[in-house]
Amino acid sequence: RVVVVGSFNVDHVWTVAALPRPGETLSGHYHTGPGGKGFNQATAAARAGAATSFVCALGDDLGGQLARALASADGIDLRDFASEAPTGTAGIYVDHDGRNSIVIGPGANAELSAAHVRQQQAPIAAAQVVLAQLESPVEAVETAFGRARDAGVITILNPAPADAVAPASLWVLADVVTPNETEFCAQFERHTGERIAAEVLVRQDDARLHALCRRLLPHGTVVITLGAAGCFVSHGEGRLRQDARTHYRIAAAAVQPVDTTGAGDAFNGALAASLARHADAAFADHVHYANRYAALSTERAGAAVAMPRDAEVEARFRT
Ligand code: ADP
Repeated sequence: RVVVVGSFNVDHVWTVAALPRPGETLSGHYHTGPGGKGFNQATAAARAGAATSFVCALGDDLGGQLARALASADGIDLRDFASEAPTGTAGIYVDHDGRNSIVIGPGANAELSAAHVRQQQAPIAAAQVVLAQLESPVEAVETAFGRARDAGVITILNPAPADAVAPASLWVLADVVTPNETEFCAQFERHTGERIAAEVLVRQDDARLHALCRRLLPHGTVVITLGAAGCFVSHGEGRLRQDARTHYRIAAAAVQPVDTTGAGDAFNGALAASLARHADAAFADHVHYANRYAALSTERAGAAVAMPRDAEVEARFRT
């Protein structure tokens, strides 16, 4: 079982020729659908084949009803708390190159509390993996990770969005962190006090990248997602390092992306699902699967709705 603690948003998505500049009015193709990093990752974990529980807060509105209907359709065990605030929303623009600009209205997501999470002791203790992001209050995530640690459950923190703060008290509870390049630089500065630019990060050779990862999360595993370049893995002395390799890269799968919104979410959900389903497999195999899963998700428009099923990943990359 995977327990995801996180956000649900109703996404409003416009596809435009170019992202709007200040003062500019554009028209574009519009569609709406579910999103939020938490829900995207929960959907990915469920479709990647893991029994999945999703702990979140929802408003008493159409967005909340949408979340319940979709969770039920994907067989997600929804553990939602009713909030007075509206269900979370996001406004997303996507240009023809697949780049995006996003504004989020957290709404109910900001109301998820430590007390809510404490009521979810049973699914957390029954899980192999607890996965969370930084779109929910830190106290809620910290409580979930604390319970997971006590029960010997693997914790994965996706430190996104980049401007969110992960205090040291939360950081030490993560077995794995999964930043993209921007999030890596943001968290590195926050946790070490030193600044690295993303352009500098990508030019680092593997040994130097590993050294930076060791400083970012000394005890655990860092997986930096690198978009079309796949990802970089750096293990610490924690329990997830299984062979002599302390660090390695795994190339991305070759695909034709149409919309990379949610690629990181696909990666995290699939990584968690693979860890939960195949406890004996090597960590590199889980990352390999997550890479393929995330690559396939970029060939479809949308975030949660774009998450492929495990069988589709198998079929697409059968060698
Ligand atoms: P985020 O969506 O958080 O910015 P990335 O852009 O790093 O995260 O993408 C996450 C993962 O999705 C990558 O590690 C890779 O596995 C996959 N991915 C993203 N873009 C592509 C692409 N163009 N081709 C193949 N895989 C991709």
